[in-house]
Amino acid sequence: MTARRPTAVDILRHLERSNCRECKLPSCMAFAASVLRGERRIRDCPRLTAEAFAALQTLFGADVDEPRTAPTPSEAYGQELMTSLMARMDQVDLAEAAARLGGEMRGSRLMIRCLGRIFELDGAGRLYSQCHVNPWVHAPLLWYVLESAGAHPTGEWVTFRELRHAQDWIRFFEHRCEREMQRIADGDPQLFGDLLQIFGGRPMPDPSNGSFAPSALVIHPLPRLPVLISYWPAEDTFGSKLTLFFDRTAEENLPVESLYRLSGGIVEMLRKIAQRQVALTT
Ligand code: SF4
Repeated sequence: MTARRPTAVDILRHLERSNCRECKLPSCMAFAASVLRGERRIRDCPRLTAEAFAALQTLFGADVDEPRTAPTPSEAYGQELMTSLMARMDQVDLAEAAARLGGEMRGSRLMIRCLGRIFELDGAGRLYSQCHVNPWVHAPLLWYVLESAGAHPTGEWVTFRELRHAQDWIRFFEHRCEREMQRIADGDPQLFGDLLQIFGGRPMPDPSNGSFAPSALVIHPLPRLPVLISYWPAEDTFGSKLTLFFDRTAEENLPVESLYRLSGGIVEMLRKIAQRQVALTT
């Protein structure tokens, strides 16, 4: 029999619940949610007792504290790109970038929201966050700061193939981003919706628009770069369908290749978390 999906509260129950912040997160609840998202391991709580760890293993299975895997090819690409982008950061006035991109200054750092979480960038291009920093976030964020026009979204949604310079990337995008994300959603539509909400997904502004699934959600991988995820689950004889929509201005804020890499990174992140959830429940 398959166990029910573990929740953050299930993990919280076994933590000290002192909100001591030694794990660098604001509370034990934030830590538990971070474990569920695959960003922290249970052992990252320095106050976890051996008894609590054993109880969590019994409850969720041996994979509860699985070590991180080696970087994927996409992550490796991100690291390479990131190094070259960081070398250009001395050209950037962070205060000007904050005004241009919808960020804020926090001391000498530029603060930017990415998928509902806060990231801070210093003058050397180093990225700080309370969650794990993936190269696929870091590289597009640097690109955004260096190159973006900071165009405001217009609310006009277009598919990837409708972007002006998408031609060379359409096949890759549809295969590696949309189809892969669809597979994840098909595996567990409820979990898929939950994950998007954890990453700041909000219902689309105009739910009466029949072009999108009623449950379509808008996420913000970068402040002025919304992505609309429209997923129709399979029904009767109709197969499922998932389409990613970008704002008409997306190419002014990130080049098409970077949009593709960013989308691929989101897919990888969702896949890892979904796999982790499956491992925890079987
Ligand atoms: S270190 Fe452990 S006990 Fe302290 S806030 Fe983090 S999760 Fe809670």
